[in-house]
Amino acid sequence: KFITLEGVDGAGKSTHLEFVADWLRQHGRELIVTREPGGTPLGETLRELLLHQEMDADTELLLMFAARQEHLARLILPALARGAWVLSDRFTDASYAYQCGGRGIASERIAALEAWVQRGFQPDLTLLFDVPPEVAEARRSAARVADRFEREADSFFSRVRNAYLDRAHAEPGRIRVLDARHSIAELQAEIGQLLQALT
Ligand code: C5P
Repeated sequence: KFITLEGVDGAGKSTHLEFVADWLRQHGRELIVTREPGGTPLGETLRELLLHQEMDADTELLLMFAARQEHLARLILPALARGAWVLSDRFTDASYAYQCGGRGIASERIAALEAWVQRGFQPDLTLLFDVPPEVAEARRSAARVADRFEREADSFFSRVRNAYLDRAHAEPGRIRVLDARHSIAELQAEIGQLLQALT
């Protein structure tokens, strides 16, 4: 199975990634943990460029999908084919959220690249960690991390969040929205139930 985690920067996704990975391993799954952009040597090189190099929004989108093609062909699909599970920190929903919602690229362009690269392939489960923009902003500044996305204005993150929620609304079976304001213990209990239902 293929599981992805999504959410705006500051939603707490990284904290929960570790819990999901531990849960799956404890339940006997062979698991590969990976991330986007990244996950392969070329993908990680593209990630460095994407996070720190200024570029045109369409260039950003195309590089995200170039990294994704490499990720699918060389890591995700071979792992799934041999029966392993794959957990990815972000996947294509992030392109709809950031490059469409955030940057304003038409969703048709993203859908065209998605069809090219994925040929209908989709995650089995996507956990969307949702928080109001002001909570995410407070967590981002506390963490003091700043790639070029994290320096964007609050309105950018509101658009990203809304685009994520629209995706979840359109695909409620695959994308499960978690209220990331809840305590870590509450969220872990919810996540455990969702993972249980998948196995
Ligand atoms: O998840 P993480 O914070 O490591 O992601 C790295 C950065 O790349 C984030 O700031 C995220 O907003 C950005 N990103 C993006 N579009 C994607 C995937 C990630 O803008 N499709």
